[in-house]
Amino acid sequence: MSHSTIENKLNPLDSMMKRFDEAAKIIGLDDAVYNTLKYPAKSLTVHLPVMMDNGKVEVFEGHRVQHSTTLGPAKGGIRYSMDVDIDEVKALAAWMTWKTAIVGVPYGGGKGGIKCDPKKMSKGELERLTRAYAAALSDFIGPDKDIPAPDMNTGGQEMAWIVDEYSKIKGEFTPAVITGKPISMGGSLGRVEATGRGVMVCTRSAIAKMGLRPDECTCVVQGFGNVGSISAKLIEMLGVKIIAISDITGGYYNPNGISVSDAMNYSQEKGNLEGFTGGSKVSNSELLELDCTILVPAAMEDQITDKNAANIKAKLIVEGANGPTSANADKILNDKGIIVVPDILANAGGVTVSYFEWVQNKMGYYWTEERVNRRADRLMKSAFDTVFENSNKFNVSMRTAAYIVAIEKVATTQRLRGTY
Ligand code: NAD
Repeated sequence: MSHSTIENKLNPLDSMMKRFDEAAKIIGLDDAVYNTLKYPAKSLTVHLPVMMDNGKVEVFEGHRVQHSTTLGPAKGGIRYSMDVDIDEVKALAAWMTWKTAIVGVPYGGGKGGIKCDPKKMSKGELERLTRAYAAALSDFIGPDKDIPAPDMNTGGQEMAWIVDEYSKIKGEFTPAVITGKPISMGGSLGRVEATGRGVMVCTRSAIAKMGLRPDECTCVVQGFGNVGSISAKLIEMLGVKIIAISDITGGYYNPNGISVSDAMNYSQEKGNLEGFTGGSKVSNSELLELDCTILVPAAMEDQITDKNAANIKAKLIVEGANGPTSANADKILNDKGIIVVPDILANAGGVTVSYFEWVQNKMGYYWTEERVNRRADRLMKSAFDTVFENSNKFNVSMRTAAYIVAIEKVATTQRLRGTY
């Protein structure tokens, strides 16, 4: 087997490939499957001329990558950011292949992005750009081909424009072409809380495996957006004491416990946590090294690196964010005996409920929030148990086990489907 040597650089493609290589070696993945999964199946780059409010036409570059469609249509979000480039989109698409395989939703992996700065654009400009992107992709995506969703700097409004544009082009209302839609356009109840809920289910399962009761655990959460605040709220509801939270303005630490609902109300009212008095101020880097049982990084990538991993005191890390731990920190955490529930498992609650949204769109029948939550919890718990069992079976970290589970699933199906 001649697998490539990957340098220890902090970019998503390298991080992903380093973990993929490790798992592939353990299971002795054959070259045919390895080489197929190393590359995305399809990628499309488009250049989109858009009339700006000042009357000038600006041309934006957009991408959509389908890494694998072996287990079903490609699935993955669309991000708007100046950092978008084709390599990043390829890495994120592959990440989605593993994520969907782990939770067992019948999808492959995809991702899209447009290089733009949405904060500098008017609503009209954003609408024209989004519609231009939807039109350019209208033969590439589809409910049984490739189903996008929101990601960084996109949300319900962008999804609504894409459904509308796609439906106009196809001549029929097609809500199943995209997930993360507003409820009135076929969105699913429970979608907003889904990722945080999945983080909570993983946390609950992990502490039970560790023989701990929730009321003897403390938890630190980095990031207080969608994933961080909802994870904190639901983990608090398990009976765990949340001793620190943070956002872009810094960390807030209170060993006696922070009231998550007070913090959520404060952050909603003020726009962020600046000035929150429920805890004393610490920096985001100090926050990660606090003495606690559970650490939930839920802000952004590369927060735990080979620079600070040795100082982490948590016994359990549940990765709410994508890629919060850089590949070169994995071994340090593992050697310290810290259990890491990896991103591709821990934050898969979002794509799980996206799948339920698509199912409901195809049925034209909509579920109660209680049904969505019950089914999502069941899938997340079962995915956690499978990864945990594989980590014991192969005597590897949960991260490597998660990759093993995903790669084996995709590889088995790929062999069944055959090749030219
Ligand atoms: P968000 O924009 O709602 O929240 C991000 C939070 O992180 C904000 O509170 C922000 O202030 C904080 N933050 C930004 N920079 C920070 C820094 N340097 N230090 C500390 N905090 C900082 O985003 P989100 O949707 O909650 O996503 C968070 C992470 O979870 C991302 O990595 C995202 O890719 C991942 N994720 C999100 C979903 C989802 O359904 N929203 C699903 C899977 C994975």
